[in-house]
Amino acid sequence: MRDIGIGSDLLGWYDTHARAMPWRVGPAERKAGIRPDPYRVWLSEVMLQQTTVAAVDGYFRRFTTRWPDVGALAAAEDADVLAEWAGLGYYARARNLLKCARRVVQDHGGRFPDTRDALLDLPGIGTYTAAAIAAIAFDEPATVVDGNVERVIARLHAVETPLPAAKPELTTLAARHTPRDRPGDHAQAMMDLGATVCTPRSPRCTECPLRGTCKARTMGIASELPRRAPKKTKPVRQGIAYVGLRADGAALLERRPDSGLLGGMLGWPGSDWSEAAPEAAPPVPADWRELPSEVRHTFTHFHLLLRVRTAILPQDANPDRGEFVPAGQFRPGDLPTVMRKVHDVASRARATD
Ligand code: SF4
Repeated sequence: MRDIGIGSDLLGWYDTHARAMPWRVGPAERKAGIRPDPYRVWLSEVMLQQTTVAAVDGYFRRFTTRWPDVGALAAAEDADVLAEWAGLGYYARARNLLKCARRVVQDHGGRFPDTRDALLDLPGIGTYTAAAIAAIAFDEPATVVDGNVERVIARLHAVETPLPAAKPELTTLAARHTPRDRPGDHAQAMMDLGATVCTPRSPRCTECPLRGTCKARTMGIASELPRRAPKKTKPVRQGIAYVGLRADGAALLERRPDSGLLGGMLGWPGSDWSEAAPEAAPPVPADWRELPSEVRHTFTHFHLLLRVRTAILPQDANPDRGEFVPAGQFRPGDLPTVMRKVHDVASRARATD
């Protein structure tokens, strides 16, 4: 027995307030019998992990134009996919994307499996993503709990346990609300409600379809929930990046190892990144000059301060690491964000020389 009923109120709200997104089949289209394409649902859910809807929009459109189905993506060159992914961050996702597409083609005849458990068996698909694809693409009554849903549920039930310890409790409560009818629309309605009405700082309770049953609203503590355990401070690591260009404009770049941070991505050669002062590690002997500006970038587990050294390299330079990419083939947009920041700092310094 559910202690709080939200189903018809929430779905009724979703029927008129659903956000339009390039990967979404809206409630009116669903009622007209249009089914979501599992490839597009999967691709959007992988892109949306750790990334905002606004940031994903352009990437999703470019990916689906270039690779319109899972077979096309499975046949793509790794370097092309990584370059198209550049800037979205969390690059292990792009490598897993390719592995998953190839598994779907090889093991499932190019069709995504339609249950949460079978989806969980694919590379890069964890509990959340499997539930989201099962619910949205296949209307399986899987419980989908992202940050937006956690917030709505914590408020609806006035859960005061701080996150992340509250996660199991919130998942259990969210599961009680998952309907057998329209579970895909329910999952998307919860996400939309959290993103547009039950927002983190100032929930718009007067516009909320759940205001009549929401415990946190009644108690006057909506904007205080969900509570969070204090965050640990991130350590600061340091490093040196070397921007070497030849007189013909070719750039010295290296592809990072497949495993680890920024795995498989192109970047400027550099030192290790550590909390101790970095050791110089030029990829080739040259008159390296350090720029006055440094690059700051924050990864999930640490902040990075990157000093930037630049040099014009001789035409016959023979580097220990990396290779020269001719000026006409070098696209800064193919670099991950931290390496693009290095490029921008070096370009600005050249422009003011
Ligand atoms: Fe969130 Fe307010 Fe709606 Fe409760 S009533 S779910 S706090 S927006």
